[in-house]
Amino acid sequence: MPIAIPHELITLLEGLQSKGYKAYKCLQGTVWNYDPFTLTFHHVQGDPFAAPSRLGLEINLQALEIPPDCYSSSLRRLAVEDFLLRSLRQTIEASKFRSRGSGKSGQISIQFPSQKILRRSSLTISRNDLEVIHFAGLPAQGRTILGKEAATMFREVLPMMWETALRSQHFDLSRLYRHIEVLEDYQALQDQLRKNRWAAFVANGSHLPRASGVSDLPLKGKAVEFESPGDFTETVMLPHRGKVAGMAIPQGITLIVGGGFHGKSTLLCALQSAVYPHIPGDGRETCATDHTAVKIRAEDGRMVHELDISGFMTDLPLVPDTCKFSTASASGSTSQAANILEAMESGAKVLLIDEDTSASNFMIRDARMQALIHADKEPITPLVDRIEELYEAFELSSILVMGGSGDYFESAQYVIAMENFRPRLVTDQAKAIIKTQPGSRNRETRVPFPPVKGRRFDTRLLDFSRGKKPCVIEAQGLDYLVLGTSKVDIRHLEQVVETGQISACGWLLRELKDYLDSKSGSSLEGFLNFFENVDEGFFTSITPYNNGLLTVPRIHEALAMLNRIREK
Ligand code: ADP
Ligand code: MG
Repeated sequence: MPIAIPHELITLLEGLQSKGYKAYKCLQGTVWNYDPFTLTFHHVQGDPFAAPSRLGLEINLQALEIPPDCYSSSLRRLAVEDFLLRSLRQTIEASKFRSRGSGKSGQISIQFPSQKILRRSSLTISRNDLEVIHFAGLPAQGRTILGKEAATMFREVLPMMWETALRSQHFDLSRLYRHIEVLEDYQALQDQLRKNRWAAFVANGSHLPRASGVSDLPLKGKAVEFESPGDFTETVMLPHRGKVAGMAIPQGITLIVGGGFHGKSTLLCALQSAVYPHIPGDGRETCATDHTAVKIRAEDGRMVHELDISGFMTDLPLVPDTCKFSTASASGSTSQAANILEAMESGAKVLLIDEDTSASNFMIRDARMQALIHADKEPITPLVDRIEELYEAFELSSILVMGGSGDYFESAQYVIAMENFRPRLVTDQAKAIIKTQPGSRNRETRVPFPPVKGRRFDTRLLDFSRGKKPCVIEAQGLDYLVLGTSKVDIRHLEQVVETGQISACGWLLRELKDYLDSKSGSSLEGFLNFFENVDEGFFTSITPYNNGLLTVPRIHEALAMLNRIREK
């Protein structure tokens, strides 16, 4: 059945020809019947250079002829949402349509999805209904409306895009089923992690390297496929792929060693990514990491608010009390300690650490340095002296890339060596070396690691206003969260993967302010409340209206953004 075109809308647009841009405002809030689709003009832009107009599109899934078994569970609905968004985005990108006019005239766009399968506010399924939010630049020359161009967009271009991208007869249904299968297998793998007490699993045949340091796309050309060491291989049964063999990293302390350029960081990056599911073809579909795993790195210059870092630092010069440590500019080591403590506060059960991005004086302190600088003069208790305790007392596992020091051999339960991008289990060799070369460093812990308490954030620092606007929340790339007149630097939050997660965190912070002002719980407890309905209704519960550009974040990143807000 072809889409019915609402001729009244087309006539109206043609009638706007040559009028001033403001005349477009008559469309705001209007609803048009494009049977079986319904189109709503949620917001009409003020001029052709402003952000394009926001359009809502609703349709019943039956009308799209998507088989009901594709949306029979919340997880399947997520797969369909992610798939259809990509389908629509590809259709828009492939379109040859170019309107005449100035500024953003004729531009059609929709939220950008990363390589991860995530819930996003641009395309949501609720029961059997699909809602899409997308954008169109209403055409004009200068400020003079190009009504005929607008009519073409709404008569031909947009309906054709909806039709080809969303109706099942126009795409390969087997690709949609593949999307569902990959997501269900990932979920099953996550269940296996929990059941077997594994921190992570990487399937044999996975393709881990990325196209470049700034791209999350797979490396093209000659990549060495992942192959688990025989003596470290486990097999899992997944609902769709069936039996899959791979490397299971148990909970505990795991060291990744090996020569430079042999793939250590690439493996760790895959692990930090695999807290999220990946799309078919990504290469990391059958990799999963405990979904609470947090990448830890040094981040000198970051803000710290009243954090108990006494487990790692005591007697810092000019710092009265490291049980309530605040600074507007942390050092490499204090920032890394803060990052661990805040990850623990947010409920992380696995830490992922790479020597490349660590402060060396936080990671190690060797025997010679202990001899030269006495423990009394060194405020830092290095991680090497706490890592076992963190696992034993807090069930906090660590996966550590450390090619430059053997001081972690004692603590590690598993040592994996990367050689030409292939892992080899070398735990026994590492343990044998401890015996032949015992080393003479002393453990420097004097007091047990203190318990981690949930803090309450000072809500006076949560100010979203800018001039006359009561609430400004914006994301700048993956680098900054803008709140009112201030900017939160999040460049080092490596597990933020979409701009939409940043804005969603901004809106969560606004909700948190109300929560903390009216309740006595911790910041984490506030966030936990908002994440309760993450499968449905999440976006509407945290924003006044759906701007079509949000992505569900993790609670760890939401707290991490809160913790980086600066005093003005
Ligand atoms: P390391 O941390 O051990 O120094 P990296 O993980 O940074 O090494 O990898 C070095 C280079 O090798 C990177 O350019 C990376 O993209 C590439 N690389 C990593 N794994 C593979 C692989 N399996 N196949 C091909 N190239 C890879
Ligand atoms: Mg490296």
